[in-house]
Amino acid sequence: AEGTGPAVISERVATADGRPVEVAANVGGESELDPAAERGADGIGLFRTEFLFIDREAPPTEAEQYETITAALSAFPEDRVVVRTLDIGGDKPVPYLDLSDEPNPFLGRRGVRLSLDEHADLFETQLRALLRAAATEHGDDLAVMFPLVTRVEEVERAVETVESVAADLADEGVDHAVPDLGAMVETPAAAFVADALADRLDFLSVGTNDLAQYVMAADRGNDAVAEYHDPLHPAVLRALDRTTAAVEETDAWVGMCGEMAGDPALTELLVGLGFDELSMSAVTVPDVKRRIREVDADAAASLAIDALACETRGEVLDVLGLDDREG
Ligand code: PEP
Ligand code: MG
Repeated sequence: AEGTGPAVISERVATADGRPVEVAANVGGESELDPAAERGADGIGLFRTEFLFIDREAPPTEAEQYETITAALSAFPEDRVVVRTLDIGGDKPVPYLDLSDEPNPFLGRRGVRLSLDEHADLFETQLRALLRAAATEHGDDLAVMFPLVTRVEEVERAVETVESVAADLADEGVDHAVPDLGAMVETPAAAFVADALADRLDFLSVGTNDLAQYVMAADRGNDAVAEYHDPLHPAVLRALDRTTAAVEETDAWVGMCGEMAGDPALTELLVGLGFDELSMSAVTVPDVKRRIREVDADAAASLAIDALACETRGEVLDVLGLDDREG
């Protein structure tokens, strides 16, 4: 009823002409798991693990991380849970890790770079927890993704680390399994080599908050340049298209977990661009599910073609039939 929020759709949805699109939730802490399930999310498309590391004196233990991951799997027993490995640096400082003193932290040591380099120890501990969780009752549905990838070599090294952690666990006689592995596409570099990334992985998930920041050279947290941080700029749309088109040639699937995914006014465009999954804050799940049911996949595809041909944000808004709005 009006004023009480949209009715929840708990089953999976497809477009009016039958193309399934998963609608998952972004979750940033254990307390958000049940609300996400109650909103009808088809699993978790982005489990941000940073909350385990911030506001404390020391990193979480393997046991603590294992408990959290298995709690997420239990909250969604039938659905995929995509856990992102630690994504610190940039706007996400962690005091005890000494990430200070970089002139441009967003262009510095952050995301998977830290996991492969100076914080390989934390990465291995987290992977041990993840691989053990993957062997539990609902662990089949666990997927793991790496943040802020720019180079194919990073993915290769991350996958090698997963394999070596699996070998260690096997030597120790510890139950484990290797989950599906993916990368976030949130840099222009990743979008341009999405084909090579998808060849090596099970899935890609686009983080439009960072992607718009890096494509547009506009700090995502700086109000003074908010209009430049624009996911509807044609350059960002073309980066999305480049990514989905590259994945289409592979066996991988492609999702989006940036803020853009949760805007029902953009759902038709995103379906038209070819996303298999959209992951968003739980509150927007019902609206986006409802919108997907109204969309015709062929019409959406031509809408996307028209949007990709635009030269300005204004033209994109016209194509989408939207008034000008904040980026
Ligand atoms: C993104 O960058 O779009 C994203 C989903 O990751 P985060 O917002 O956590 O950086
Ligand atoms: Mg990001």
